[in-house]
This record gives sequence, C-alpha cells and structure tokens, in this order.
Amino acid sequence: MDHGTAREALVIGAGVSGLTTAICLAEAGWSVRIRTKDLPHDTTSEVAGALWGPSFQEPMAKTMAWTNASLADFTALAGEPGSGVRMAPALTVSTMPAGDPPPQARSIPELRACDPAELPPGFTSGFRAVMPLADMPRYLDHLTARLAEAGVPIEQRPVASLAEAAREAPLIVNCAGLGARDFGDDSVRPVFGQHVVVANPGLDLLFMELSTADEWTSYFPHSDRVVCGGVRVPGRWDRTPDPAITDRVLARVRALEPRLRDAEVIDVVTGLRPDRPSVRVETERIGTAQCIHNYGHSGTGVSLSWGCAHEATKLAG
Ligand SMILES: Cc1cc2nc3c(=O)[nH]c(=O)nc-3n(C[C@H](O)[C@H](O)[C@H](O)COP(=O)(O)OP(=O)(O)OC[C@H]3O[C@@H](n4cnc5c(N)ncnc54)[C@H](O)[C@@H]3O)c2cc1C
Repeated sequence: MDHGTAREALVIGAGVSGLTTAICLAEAGWSVRIRTKDLPHDTTSEVAGALWGPSFQEPMAKTMAWTNASLADFTALAGEPGSGVRMAPALTVSTMPAGDPPPQARSIPELRACDPAELPPGFTSGFRAVMPLADMPRYLDHLTARLAEAGVPIEQRPVASLAEAAREAPLIVNCAGLGARDFGDDSVRPVFGQHVVVANPGLDLLFMELSTADEWTSYFPHSDRVVCGGVRVPGRWDRTPDPAITDRVLARVRALEPRLRDAEVIDVVTGLRPDRPSVRVETERIGTAQCIHNYGHSGTGVSLSWGCAHEATKLAG
C-alpha cells in the first residue's frame, strides 16, 4: 500500500509501553491509533507493583538513560491529582554488605545509606529514598484518559503479523510485550510473578528487598491497598496463582510489618514479565512501513516506559 506522506501511526499493544508511546507520538503530532489483544486492565502492566527504579538490563547505558528520563515524567505525574503516581518514601534493604550505590541508582531522589537502627532484623545494609510509585490500575486509567483526550482510539483486535499491521499505517510500533514472540522473536520469555494484594492498614513507606534470589520481600502501599511480593519463576507460562507462594509472601511481609498481620487479603494477581536478553527499542523496515520495536522490558517496564517512549518517538522522526 502507498502510505503517501501521512503521519499516521499504529501502536500494537495497550500495556504501559503501548499507552505511553501512543501519548508521546500523539503529542509529537502523529495521528495515532492502538490495536491490542488485551485491554489495559488485562495486561501484565496492570499487575506491576509498580515501583520506578533502576534497571540493570541490557543495553545497560541506554536502560540507565531511559529510567532517568522516566524519572522526570513520573515526578511530574506525581504532582497531578488522579494520576495514580506518588513520590513515596522508600526503604530498600539487602543482606549484602553495604557499598556505594551502582551508577544506575545515583539518580534516585534523596538517596542515603540507612542508619543500622533503621534496618529490620536479618538485613545488613539499606538505603532510604523517595521513589515514584504507580498504582497501576489507576495509572493505566489515567493514561487511557489522556489518550481519549488526544483522540487516540484503542481497538481490541489482535494483530496477526507485523506485515499485516504494516499494511495499515506508514508507522507501526510493536509494544506487544511477550506477544512479540508471535511476531517471530522467541528470545522473549515469560518470568512469572505473583502479588498478594491486601487492604492498606495505613502504611505509607514502601519496602523493597534487593536480592538476586527468586523470592524476596516487598510491599508497596497505595491509597487503599498494599501490593505484596515478590517472586520470579523464569519460563513459567501458567498464570494460575500458587497458594504456597501466597503463604510465603504473607509470612514474609507480616514478619516485617506487624500492621500487615490482620490486613484483609483482597486479591492475588499474577503476570508474566516479558523478559529478553536486552530491551529492544529499534527500527526496521517492514513492507512499506517503518516498524519501531519497543518491548522486552522484563521486570522494569514501568520504570523504562517514558524513556523508551521518548526514544521510539525520536526514531519515528
Ligand atoms: C509481578 C510483577 C511485578 C512487577 N513490578 C514492576 C515494578 O515494580 N516496576 C516496573 O518497572 N516494572 C514491574 N514489572 C514489569 C512490568 O509490569 C512490565 O515490564 C511491563 O508491564 C511491560 O509492559 P508492556 O506494555 O511492554 O507489556 P504488557 O503490559 O504485557 O502489554 C502488552 C500488550 O500487547 C498486546 N499484544 C500482545 N500480542 C498482541 C497482538 N498479536 N496483537 C495486538 N496486541 C497484542 C497485549 O494484549 C497487551 O495489551 C512487574 C511485572 C510483574 C509481573
């Protein structure tokens, strides 16, 4: 198809990557529409905690720049009532010896090493900071409302192939997350995660254990609920909640925070992080269209979202 010179863009996917990229393209003057298999509340993005924080994924220099770019957007969003984003006091702890924060962590606002008295039993080091925290169901609603205001429609209709999408617009953006496998990239793999959501007994401070293990302790308080984790099971496709994981998550957070002991369990949610050896933000020609890929963000897709969306918009020219 001859697309002429129309600045029309088709974004594939309505998770945090697709919605954010669609906003950036619309603001840059593109006429944008979204086609998606699942609506925002049924995506992996809905399940995230979601803490903005450093990413240690490849390409390392770029992911550092993208998370730093996202920090500016999330900081601005935290000032907008109803965005679902707030700047939350944070305690991050570890069982590893104290050391200097890695370069990726240096942009974290108000970062300072913990006083030993601030550390819960069993942890040897930690940091206090103030970090953007997104209440994802609300935040995705906020992004969706921004798109509606910008006149960007979201159509629930899966794309069968990038070649099919390329026949619909001169610019297509692949924000399909794990769905990028169906477009031929089998380096994208699921990493199962599960959160236990409890009623918020009045917590404000977010808690995150820094660990390379497959289970760790985290709880992220939002206005009415606390999202408790964490677990990663590489390669697991089955999204059925695991009651044994629920028990372990609850035991860990209740041991740390007495106010969570009687908090009512509201929900158990699961999601598959779209893992990839490196985050893919790059452009390629498909048929008569320019295709920009923006997927493979693994466990830091919210943190990377604005940086990657700005990069994708730059690539679109
Ligand atoms: C338990 C858990 C906790 C997490 N916590 C955090 C956190 O604290 N901070 C953080 O930064 N990140 C976190 N993440 C990671 C984050 O959720 C993901 O990296 C991010 O949501 C990926 O967003 P996405 O938009 O790329 O993909 P998704 O949210 O998976 O969206 C992909 C979209 O593409 C659509 N799609 C797929 N195939 C097709 C097709 N063929 N045609 C049309 N549409 C298609 C889907 O329907 C969907 O709309 C967490 C993830 C999990 C599971």
